[in-house]
Amino acid sequence: TEMGRAFVYVILGGGVAAGYAALEFVKRGVSQGELCIISEEPVAPYERPALSKGFLLPEGIELVLGTRVKSADVKRKTLLTATGETISYKILIVATGARSLKLEEFGVNGSDAENVCYLRDVADANRLVNVMQSCAGGNAVVIGGGYIGMECAASLVINKTNVTMVFPEAHCMARLFTPKIASYYEDYYKLKGVNFIKGTVLSSFDFDSNGKVTAVNLRDGTKLSTDMVVVGIGIRPNTGLFEGQLTLEKGGIKVNGMLQSSNSSVYAIGDVAAFPVKLFGDTRRLEHVDSARKSARHAVAAILEPEKTGEFDYLPFFYSRVFTLSWQFYGDNVGDVVYYGDMSGSTFGAYWVSKGHLVGSFLEGGTKEEYEAIAKATRLKPEIEDLDELERQGLGFAVKV
Ligand code: FAD
Repeated sequence: TEMGRAFVYVILGGGVAAGYAALEFVKRGVSQGELCIISEEPVAPYERPALSKGFLLPEGIELVLGTRVKSADVKRKTLLTATGETISYKILIVATGARSLKLEEFGVNGSDAENVCYLRDVADANRLVNVMQSCAGGNAVVIGGGYIGMECAASLVINKTNVTMVFPEAHCMARLFTPKIASYYEDYYKLKGVNFIKGTVLSSFDFDSNGKVTAVNLRDGTKLSTDMVVVGIGIRPNTGLFEGQLTLEKGGIKVNGMLQSSNSSVYAIGDVAAFPVKLFGDTRRLEHVDSARKSARHAVAAILEPEKTGEFDYLPFFYSRVFTLSWQFYGDNVGDVVYYGDMSGSTFGAYWVSKGHLVGSFLEGGTKEEYEAIAKATRLKPEIEDLDELERQGLGFAVKV
């Protein structure tokens, strides 16, 4: 017969969601040899956020590392690896995550230059650290004003590199922050020496004779000479293996409240899954570690104990830490914004109120108890009659709910 192995459970992908799913399988009891993880990466699943700020490997699991799956057949329930092996499953958990968007996808060449860095996996992180160390005291251009851009800029500054951030939006963290919240972080970064060039994009690089980038040319005509470039311009979910086989939505694999896709033997978790967010009554694909961990655990519970497992009921949660700053956000950033606290100090926040209900909460510099309070309040979606009163009560409102 053809070369192959068979497992009851196969987790495709070796990232955060895969690691948490494996831990949950082991916690609930899986027999030796029943579960297999296939990952393109040469290492066991690890905590990805720690790359910009340990391994998650339980025992008794078949690890197929350094192995890319190149095709999947959900009717035959098989995966074909790049090494030519067929791996079959009864239940498949797709945890393929996402990949960094490349500059080439925006018409700019140069991603392969030795001093242009992306950051998604541990190989990227090692490379970035090496490049950063070789540029100490020099200049870096950070392309992109999202999480990766903001967190890498802070790390570069801490490592004595002069940083210019370039992004097309009017302010940093544009998908989440309001202009007012963003200004707090941008002002802090400016005090740390970061230069911001907003409202324009990269148009090309200048290279030296060795192919190293020496300058970044912007569409507004600016030329920035630089020793290195960090690119954080977003991610694209890894759905390619399943296009035409599973229903997709929001760029990801559409799943139900049990994290089950349009094929009942295939589940999807983490960044690649588009799941129903009960609290808001719509389907979302989140690119955050908390939803990767929790969707992983929920999928395993749904697989092993379906009768005892309800629908996934997830409160969206995002956070970041840079320099000595630290914020958390829960819920949805739609509707009217009510600010509280002192933006000239170290603790402040905001609420989002939509259709008469609190739907989102942000807090910078809170205590553990305060973060728990805004999470709890947001999940309850309390009715808000008077925005001025909410503003007067500030953080006290969440603490009292
Ligand atoms: P991933 O962790 O990306 O794992 C996907 C895995 O699938 C990888 O191992 C990949 O190699 C493998 N794979 C894909 N295709 C194939 C294939 N065809 N064959 C074999 N293997 C395949 N989130 C936060 O909420 N807060 C943070 O502070 C934060 N910081 C972050 C910092 C960095 C530097 C990065 C990169 C991300 C950060 N995130 C953060 C996001 C968080 O890490 C992701 O949401 C999380 O990793 C998603 O988990 P996942 O398992 O879905 O995908």
